[in-house]
Amino acid sequence: MVEDETRMASLIRRGLTGEGLAADVAANGEDALWMAESHDYDAIVLDVMLPGIDGFETCRRLRSAGVWAPVLMLTARDAVEDRVAGLDTGADDYLVKPFAFAELLARLRALARRGDQERPNVLRVGDLTLDPAAREVRRGDEEIRLSAKEFSLLETFMRRPGEVLSRLHLLEHAWDFAYENRSNVVDVYIRHLRRKIDEPFGRRSLETVRGAGYRLRADGA
Ligand code: CA
Repeated sequence: MVEDETRMASLIRRGLTGEGLAADVAANGEDALWMAESHDYDAIVLDVMLPGIDGFETCRRLRSAGVWAPVLMLTARDAVEDRVAGLDTGADDYLVKPFAFAELLARLRALARRGDQERPNVLRVGDLTLDPAAREVRRGDEEIRLSAKEFSLLETFMRRPGEVLSRLHLLEHAWDFAYENRSNVVDVYIRHLRRKIDEPFGRRSLETVRGAGYRLRADGA
């Protein structure tokens, strides 16, 4: 439980221990970081308004430190930007203050069931990175500019590295339902992508698998 308002923190903590759960309280983001890195928590309740680094930044740093415990973010107001920012920094769910304790408990139970699998908010395949929220693609440090369609095609590959994806699969994931099913549009966009993510870097990461489709090499090379 990461919350600087001691009354609120101890109220929630008492509620949790009353349910037979164990809870630690951190009063700021920095403390939360070292606590979460040294202890495997089943879930983290993270208030957005904190002294020092705020809840968004704390969440971002938790994820980049490899802490994948589910994060439930508490926001003070029902602002769309806050919820979007929270989810984009790697939070799993949010709750708007004031909330009913029963709802906090129910959401925590749901989150804890998911466990702490890696759910990176930036996709990484070799030295290729793709940030769906910031709409950024890089090879190493170099930023690559892609059109919206090229971006969603690459994202589809980066979610399944090393797997052969059929033209139909690529059409279904990167084009919308209304799109006329012409599979050569995929080939055209694959050529565009290769010209941007491979050729300038002397790579061949996007492979053609004859009769089956395409594959992004798992090492991104
Ligand atoms: Ca607070």
